[in-house]
Amino acid sequence: MMENANMRIVLGGVRGSACVSHPDYNRYGGATTSVLIDDGLGTRIVFDAGTGLQTLAPFISDANAACPVLMLFTHYHLDHLIGLPSFAPIYNPDWHIIFAAPTREGITPEIALQRLITAPFWPSPMRAHQQFLSLPSPCSDTPYCHRGFDLRWCALHHRNGCHAYRLDHRNTGASMVFATDFEWAASDESERAALFKLCREPRPADILIMEGHAPSAHFPDWGHSTWMEAVEVAQAVGAHQLVITHHGPADTDNDLSQRDRELKILLPSARLGYQGMELEWRRQDAK
Ligand SMILES: [Zn+2]
Ligand SMILES: [Zn+2]
Repeated sequence: MMENANMRIVLGGVRGSACVSHPDYNRYGGATTSVLIDDGLGTRIVFDAGTGLQTLAPFISDANAACPVLMLFTHYHLDHLIGLPSFAPIYNPDWHIIFAAPTREGITPEIALQRLITAPFWPSPMRAHQQFLSLPSPCSDTPYCHRGFDLRWCALHHRNGCHAYRLDHRNTGASMVFATDFEWAASDESERAALFKLCREPRPADILIMEGHAPSAHFPDWGHSTWMEAVEVAQAVGAHQLVITHHGPADTDNDLSQRDRELKILLPSARLGYQGMELEWRRQDAK
């Protein structure tokens, strides 16, 4: 099997709820959620548009009609959206982007962005060449195809809703799941089964990027999971590598370094995500 050496995942921002800026946050970074998948052949997919989107600009600002960026929203809480209005390429008429998400409670990506990027919240309309794609929820048995990728998704337990995504790269068989902003402890059996299915089928995900925001399980209805629950999910589905993200804005580098040490004792292949982290994305059981 041919392996594409340039395929990678880049974490543009790993902070949850609010961005932070202070020397105590330099190592893990203070920008909020934005994740890039780049196949090295012009296909760029971005999950969410938190302030970390700025750090991904060098990878995506050359997008054109032949290779538009596909931007998928997990949901529209502001920490996952607030990087977009100030992202310079959306004012370039030659820049091409497709905004996509499953429709939930009648809210499409077009409605959500029209509400945000308008007066009195923002002075300038987008001028890039943009398309809007409303995906069905739940995902059908047939994945949505974008260039060389198969995309699947499922709903998560979170206030106002949220979706996890799975990408399978058809040429290499590499797979990854991005699951942020959900409360594992409060998830019912059908919600847990849907996430397990997403992570396991058609085969266990090579990389699971999951949130671990909650400091403990004693925050009911807060909408988030603990890093220990991320380990539980990763082990249950047989994911090869776990990366934990959406760190709390109060968690300093020292706090997170301590957590990373505890995490590796529990699951040696797991890591806490940090801003700028690049993951080599390949099929990990390929011979
Ligand atoms: Zn969030
Ligand atoms: Zn949220």
